[in-house]
Amino acid sequence: MLVAGFPAGSFAANCYLVAPAPGSECVIIDPGQDAERGIDEMLREHRCKPVAVLLTHGHIDHVWSVAPVCGAKDVPAYIHAGDRELLSNPARGFPLGPAQQLFGGLKLSEPADVKELADGLVLHIAGLEITVSHTPGHTPGSVVFGVPREGRGETPGPAAGDALFSGDLLFAGSIGRTDLPGGDYPTIIESLATVCLPLPADTVVWPGHGPRTTIGAERASNPFLAPLVRRHAAGPPAADGAAATDTAGSTGGPAKPNRARRL
Ligand SMILES: [Zn+2]
Ligand SMILES: [Zn+2]
Repeated sequence: MLVAGFPAGSFAANCYLVAPAPGSECVIIDPGQDAERGIDEMLREHRCKPVAVLLTHGHIDHVWSVAPVCGAKDVPAYIHAGDRELLSNPARGFPLGPAQQLFGGLKLSEPADVKELADGLVLHIAGLEITVSHTPGHTPGSVVFGVPREGRGETPGPAAGDALFSGDLLFAGSIGRTDLPGGDYPTIIESLATVCLPLPADTVVWPGHGPRTTIGAERASNPFLAPLVRRHAAGPPAADGAAATDTAGSTGGPAKPNRARRL
């Protein structure tokens, strides 16, 4: 699997390209602020052709460029129904005052072709098998995307080294904020406990902001996950302690986190 990415715009939301291999079809995840040029550079560099844009959630720092990118490439956008309205009304994701200040003059529209995501859905696109998990808490329609390392999941047994595109659910050493409209702390903790905690330790996490990590590393040291691990200690033992290496064949991750204006 090929994963490339860059932090887009002043919010430094990671925009990813995911493909089975260079020179193949690909998906674009979270085309943020002013992301068109960076996306075109990734597509050129890896000789990939986009067939879809996937959105982890509806916050503007992740969807800013979705309409122009989908329009230029003539591809659909996928988003969970719970966040769809944010595509055309981004200010709904923020408290009234700050939203008007930040986005008062901003006009966004939905891409021509929007497909809605649901929990458990498996997308077979670009030669990839992408599993959607609904993980509300940061926003009502937040999802994460799981992609088996081998693309189509031929490998039997535990899916070691799979990729998880975690959006603003899980970061290296932190989790998404829950103080914006639609956010809820107990809900995000439940999403983390049910979706992230059971994954194999060497699952590579590609977050919506900041550097990549692994589930094992976050279980061991993330202050929000560690208490959940203890709480679930009675369950089957997890294979923690695996080396935090990137087994996804990455060609380089996004740059350092910019915590100043993370949405
Ligand atoms: Zn967000
Ligand atoms: Zn964000």
